[in-house]
Amino acid sequence: MSGRKASGPGTQAVEAGRKKEWTGPVVNPPVWRASTHLYEDTAALAKGRPNVDGNFYYGRRGSPTQWALCDALTQLEPGAFGTLLYPSGVAAIAGALMGILDAGDVLLITDNAYEPSRNMAEMLLKPFGIETRYFDPRDLDAFPHAFCDRTRAVLLESPGSLTMEICDVPALAAIARKKGALSLIDNTWAGPLGFPAFERGCDISIMALTKHVGGHSDLMMGSVAAKDEEIYTRLRQRAQLLGQVVSPDDAALALRGLRTMPLRLARSSETALAIAEWLRDRPEVAHVLCPMLPGSPGHDLWKRDFTGGCGLLSFVLKGRRPDAVSRLIDGLEMFGIGFSWGGFESLAIPFEPSRARSATSWPPEGWDRDDRFGVRLAIGLEDRDDLLHDLEQGFAAMERA
Ligand SMILES: *Cc1c(COP(=O)(O)O)cnc(C)c1O
Repeated sequence: MSGRKASGPGTQAVEAGRKKEWTGPVVNPPVWRASTHLYEDTAALAKGRPNVDGNFYYGRRGSPTQWALCDALTQLEPGAFGTLLYPSGVAAIAGALMGILDAGDVLLITDNAYEPSRNMAEMLLKPFGIETRYFDPRDLDAFPHAFCDRTRAVLLESPGSLTMEICDVPALAAIARKKGALSLIDNTWAGPLGFPAFERGCDISIMALTKHVGGHSDLMMGSVAAKDEEIYTRLRQRAQLLGQVVSPDDAALALRGLRTMPLRLARSSETALAIAEWLRDRPEVAHVLCPMLPGSPGHDLWKRDFTGGCGLLSFVLKGRRPDAVSRLIDGLEMFGIGFSWGGFESLAIPFEPSRARSATSWPPEGWDRDDRFGVRLAIGLEDRDDLLHDLEQGFAAMERA
């Protein structure tokens, strides 16, 4: 060993998880498709094998393909003790929440959370006796008053889903810690390369690997990284009780995506920023919601706390109704219409988030009441000028009422 620390994100993504014991003499760990792991004899079977990571036992506890992915994700996340895999991003959020909460606990959720996280609180956690309250992530003065003596965890998301608010994660996490609660963050937007969640005070970092890690719109998976052994052990035990496992084929796809993630993120961030600048100058646009854009809401915090971005941004139209938003999106030829993001191809969907907000208002204070219907863009790897041309067409179609 030279003792050299692989510091660049590109190098880290290339090297992470490629232990000789997983890969053998080839570059990538083979796809170990296995339910049964065989034992030498009945004595070995009777003796059993310890329930620790990286130990052949039975398919539900994974094989070297999944272990290599866990290892790689842990190495990419500064300060992580370990990482668990789940069959989707939503399963990862559910796994993290059900992993640490018990009946009687109170959970605080940021008001700009991903809508399925809110649904989970109401329809999954509540029947299990876990209560949820929502808070405005940008009101640091009010935040300490959101806690009670049963508050056990806080779920953050920055930037927020659809509306892209950046919150002061270090400040919120410090308050949560003082109140004896764990901070979880849905870190799908920036990922560990763009937001080192543990260095910013969080205890658990959740990612939909479906997005940037997969990167090719052909995979569903989620991960939960824990900061220390105690949290990790508890999450792992509950994941095993819930029977969570991902297929080795999908783990191999995720590993393949991971290798080029820094390149793809750099490219889509650069194009997204150029598109955000272009949108800012359009007369039809009231607000561009893109933390990477100077002057945009949250840009200062983004600059302070983040080391990268991605291709996901939103914009709100000036005084337009949903039919105008539909004409704009239907007028696009290159952008696909569909959920998810982080793939190589660009996507567009309409949004109006007010039904998924309860502690804050939409449109936000200070905006014109009629500026509320928007478009979320997921920028892929196409050429910038082609995407701009397509958006130009969309705006033209919007005017052809
Ligand atoms: C997509 C998404 C998820 C869920 O991921 P799936 O793999 O689709 O279940 C979670 N959080 C955020 C912020 C997302 O955008």
